[in-house]
Parts: sequence; structure tokens; C-alpha cells
Amino acid sequence: MRCALCHRLSWNLLCGACLSWIAPTPTTRTIGDLRVYSVFDYHEIEMLLKSKYSIIGSRILRLLAQKAARFFAQNAELPRDIYGIGIDDKPKGGYAHTAIIAHAFERYAGIAALYGRIIAQNHVHYAGKSLDFRRKNPRRFATTLTQKLAGNGVILYDDIIVTGTTLCEAARLLQKRGIPVLCAITLCSATRTTA
Ligand SMILES: [Zn+2]
Repeated sequence: MRCALCHRLSWNLLCGACLSWIAPTPTTRTIGDLRVYSVFDYHEIEMLLKSKYSIIGSRILRLLAQKAARFFAQNAELPRDIYGIGIDDKPKGGYAHTAIIAHAFERYAGIAALYGRIIAQNHVHYAGKSLDFRRKNPRRFATTLTQKLAGNGVILYDDIIVTGTTLCEAARLLQKRGIPVLCAITLCSATRTTA
């Protein structure tokens, strides 16, 4: 096949050169009391993320998620007995992008994944919408997670953080149930503040 970025012949969807070019550039943001770690630069992976609803996109997302998870495993000290949950990991277009992230972090960073635990009841599209619009149209997440199932706490995953509305809404829901939300991890941040 050919590399999705440079179109050179490659055994994988992204060739070794392109995959190494997408280097982790970690940033953190604090939204309310939630700390959000983002691994890649938005502009570097924008084109790749925009293909996420195609089958090729799901494979590229998996490569990026694996790379992010390995980076996290090497650089973060994680408490024991914690769980990772992808936000709204109901499959759309054949796969759930946040479930792919949760799976990669289970495999490469040892954070046990829980699936289907935070599902949006309101399927509003946020792309290109203002913070005001996002606040007025919450996703109304539902969860089946209980304190007993959550161990020492959970880490939330999303592919991208824009305003942080989605992650905060999910975190608040869990906190109301007495579940500690340790932090959130996204593949990238759309407006970056360097850590
Ligand atoms: Zn390439």
C-alpha cells in the first residue's frame, strides 16, 4: 500500500518516516478543576483526524492513539486500579474513535478500559460552534458507571479538546456520583497552551 501522507510505498498506512515526523508535543490545559493532557499538535494531525470517519481514518487514529499511549506510559506515573473511558464511544460510521483510544491506552499504558460507560443522549454537532452554543446545548451524558466499578478513579479520553465543554460535562456527571476523575487525555488540543 502507499503511505496516507507522503504516498510512498509502505507496509503500513503511515510509513516509518511520516509516523516519526508526528512527534508528541504534549500540552496541558485546566478546564474548571479538570486537567487535560493533549499529546500532539493539532495542526500536525488535523488532516489525519479529519479522515476519522472513514475506515482509513480509523486505522490512522489507531496508530496515533498507540503512539500517544506509549508516550504516556513512558512519561507519566499512574496510580493503580484506575480505568480509562472514551467519551461517547458508541460506534458511528463503523467504529468509535474514543474506544480506539481507550483500547490503545489499555494495551500500551496498562490503563484498563471500560466501554460504553458515558453515552451522549443529545447528538448535537459542536464542530464550528461557539462556546455559548456548546454550553446551551449540553450532550446530556448518561452513565452506568458506579463508584464500586471505578476503582481509584477514571481517566477520560477524547480525540480532541476544543473548548473543553464535552470533557467537563462528562467529568461533572461522574463526580456527582462520587467517582474521582483523575484527568482527561486527548490526542490533541485545538487551542494550545504549552505546558
Ligand atoms: Zn509517509
